Amino acid sequence: MTIAQDKVVTIHYKVVDSESGDLIDSSENKQPMVYLHGAQNIIPGLEKALEGKQIGAELDVRVAPEEAYGPRRDEQVQQVPRDAFKEMEKVEPGMAVTAQTEQGPVNLIVTEVSEATVTVDANHPLAGKTLDFSVKVESVRDASEEELQHGHVHGPKGHEH
Ligand code: ZN
Repeated sequence: MTIAQDKVVTIHYKVVDSESGDLIDSSENKQPMVYLHGAQNIIPGLEKALEGKQIGAELDVRVAPEEAYGPRRDEQVQQVPRDAFKEMEKVEPGMAVTAQTEQGPVNLIVTEVSEATVTVDANHPLAGKTLDFSVKVESVRDASEEELQHGHVHGPKGHEH
């Protein structure tokens, strides 16, 4: 069976930062990833590369930021008054915090702390990175009607309701 729109695909994968060579994530010794093809469950560059592949296929894919987590945006880095964090016991660089905004919760990383201000970065941690994936296609099946309605995979390794 071939990977196409509305197929449920199981892959083993490894992804490294193409610039530094650092391992970002891997399904080795873990459950493989199961996703619904064509439903934007995975980043566009990887989904595109998997289109038309067969069970057993192994591929190396380089994905540019534009087809992964987007470019880094400087305007996503902001300084906020230290007072905004006064209810937290401590604030230090590297901490992940969630800010409530009119658009809903936003995940931020604290990058700098001074006496009066805290600098926070709302970019996705992988924004601006070119990613090198190594992928093996483990299985491909048709999605059920229910899975198509929900836009994600159900069952043992997929979404549990
Ligand atoms: Zn569902």
